[in-house]
Amino acid sequence: MLTIVRRILAFWRPHRWLGAGLIATMLLKALFTVVLALSIKVIIDGVLADGPDTSPGSILVLLVVGFLVSASAGIANGYLAARAGAEILADVRLSLFDRLQELSIGFHRKSQTGDLLARFATDVAQLSNGVIRQPLVGMTSFAAVLFYVPVMMLLEPRLATPAVLMMPIVVYLVNRLAPDADQALDEEKRQIAAVLSSVSENLRAQPIVRAFGLQNRSRVAFGRRISTLRAASSRAEFRVQLLAVFSEYAVALVQISVVGAGAVLALRGKLEVGTLAAFVGLLVEFTWETTVIGRDVLPEIRKAWSGVRRVDELLSTGPVSAKGVGGMMVPGLEESIRFENVSFGYSPDDALQLRDVNLVIPGGAYVAIVGASGSGKSTLLSILLRFYDPSSGRTMIDSMDLMDVDPRELRRLMGTVFQETFLFNASLRENIRLSAPEAGDAEIDAAVEAAGLSELVELLPDGLETIVGESGRQLSGGQSQRVGLARAFLRRPQLLLLDEATSALDPATESEAVRAIEGLRSGRTVIMVTHRLETTVNADMIVVMREGTVDEVGDFEELIERGQTFARMWEKQQGFRVSRDGRAASVTADRLTAVPLLAGVPVAPLQRLAGEFVTVRFDKDAVVFEEGDPGERFYLIVRGVVEVSRMGEAGERVVAYLEDGDFFGEMALLEGAPRNATVTAVTPTTTLSIDREQFESMLADVPEIARTIRVEAADRARANGSQ
Ligand code: ADP
Ligand code: MG
Repeated sequence: MLTIVRRILAFWRPHRWLGAGLIATMLLKALFTVVLALSIKVIIDGVLADGPDTSPGSILVLLVVGFLVSASAGIANGYLAARAGAEILADVRLSLFDRLQELSIGFHRKSQTGDLLARFATDVAQLSNGVIRQPLVGMTSFAAVLFYVPVMMLLEPRLATPAVLMMPIVVYLVNRLAPDADQALDEEKRQIAAVLSSVSENLRAQPIVRAFGLQNRSRVAFGRRISTLRAASSRAEFRVQLLAVFSEYAVALVQISVVGAGAVLALRGKLEVGTLAAFVGLLVEFTWETTVIGRDVLPEIRKAWSGVRRVDELLSTGPVSAKGVGGMMVPGLEESIRFENVSFGYSPDDALQLRDVNLVIPGGAYVAIVGASGSGKSTLLSILLRFYDPSSGRTMIDSMDLMDVDPRELRRLMGTVFQETFLFNASLRENIRLSAPEAGDAEIDAAVEAAGLSELVELLPDGLETIVGESGRQLSGGQSQRVGLARAFLRRPQLLLLDEATSALDPATESEAVRAIEGLRSGRTVIMVTHRLETTVNADMIVVMREGTVDEVGDFEELIERGQTFARMWEKQQGFRVSRDGRAASVTADRLTAVPLLAGVPVAPLQRLAGEFVTVRFDKDAVVFEEGDPGERFYLIVRGVVEVSRMGEAGERVVAYLEDGDFFGEMALLEGAPRNATVTAVTPTTTLSIDREQFESMLADVPEIARTIRVEAADRARANGSQ
């Protein structure tokens, strides 16, 4: 209880003057009630006694003044309460919001938006009840009681003493009963929820219910649910009634015994009638206010406390995003960015996603980071951005350890474009300007030009003032990406970071965007993560990541000559031709021999087969096929990324990502075999595809190797199946 009081006071501390005003007005109101009761005594005793020693006129004047003062105090009290409540809630919402800005990217990835929103809505509402409304009601009652008790004592100690002694017992008992009623009400709510979910299940199951004639079964099951609910409802209702009846009669008992005793005293002439009347008036108020505390205020505060706790939990939650030594300036990037033995894992008990990365990126270089999906490219950038900090090792810019600088200072050096650009619901100009709020119109125009947005701006009815974003959604993926580029360019960053910034664009747009990026390379360091190797040809340095480690480093020629990972990846992406808009693609027979399944097929049938591939495009999130579907087509990915997932005991599990140059769907080569996985496009994806019949007719020409191909396809399917 003490900690609760302390926490309530902490919320009120910044508004202590409002609190003081509230207490003053409460006291004034209580004072009037006392004056009213006392004036009854004066009037009655004055009337009953012969010569009145106080004139009724002055009492009436006193009452009118008292009434006016009390009414004004009441209005002032209402105003102050509303004001204080609004202020405290505003404080809470602001500090929650501030907290969300401070928490790490890791925290945000893990948390559910719904849960965080609930803290702003339901939890804050509960907090408002537990920290503002109920304490005010309680304080009002308490202030009143503070006045009543001494006055009652002065009026008639023989009656006041038992009343004052009995009421705490009543409060205690009522306060003990209240949680029972609450529990019963909670149970009733749970049962109602269960009934609703079984109705909803039954509605969804109607076809099955009809088809299998399950009506009776459903009816019986539902009947059981209803009778549980019926029992819970009547228990809850009875508890609530019991609480009301109990508090009413407990109070009545106190009142009757005190008033009875008073009547006896008055009849015996040991108590003036006026005093008794005044005393009874105060007694009724006193018992009422004390029951309010026991029956409403205390239980309500207790109930609301779960909301307060959840708000506090968020306010004190860790880990806060990386903090640096405050005020340390980041001079800028001159010599190099260095990763020194950097290891990192997203969760402490999982495997590491970066292992012992050692890498020197010279200042001013144009660097491409490549590697398969999941090899740690984005993670490496996250470390540089200090979204996460290394588990071991260190990251340096020139002679400065990143851990020693304030992340916000650090990020001032950087302009970053992610694979998707978030557009706020504001004008195009505002959306671009947010990376450099002080930028002038000329600078914005230059950034728009550099990002290849000029054409679009001319087409838009309101040009740069056109409202884009969330509700607007007027821009395509490619256009949004260019807004992202313009945003980053406008900042004139020393360090430009691009994480697959252009890979969702069609070929023509992508090469334009890459040219725009290359145009900006002088005078700054550019680090570009990509899985599309064509965009790396002009890089000063290519870093090949594999399974969380740096596999190869070198420029394009060196890596091709080396003939290792990069060269193999390059081979895989060659041999396709794509139209500028990415809508039509073709593949060479030569490239087909690089598909392991087709390695042994002679050139002539492959050439025919190459001609039969058709372009099939999938939008982001489109399902290519689902596990269990009949296997009818075979796919080669020309551009894009797909996710391969499989149903396991623990639900759907991603088993692989495939991208440019990879193939999938070999089940189509095995007669009648259903798909053993679900494939979904992660980015807009262009594939080349042929169906089973085309394959069969090709295989008919080369019976000698048809068998080998089938065996190999079956092997691969089996290997994938046990992944
Ligand atoms: P890339 O950008 O090269 O495709 P990432 O750096 O995104 O790869 O991912 C590297 C590995 O870390 C992958 O295995 C991925 O599943 C895992 N990973 C990425 N982000 C998270 C995260 N927020 N939490 C846990 N694991 C993650
Ligand atoms: Mg990535």
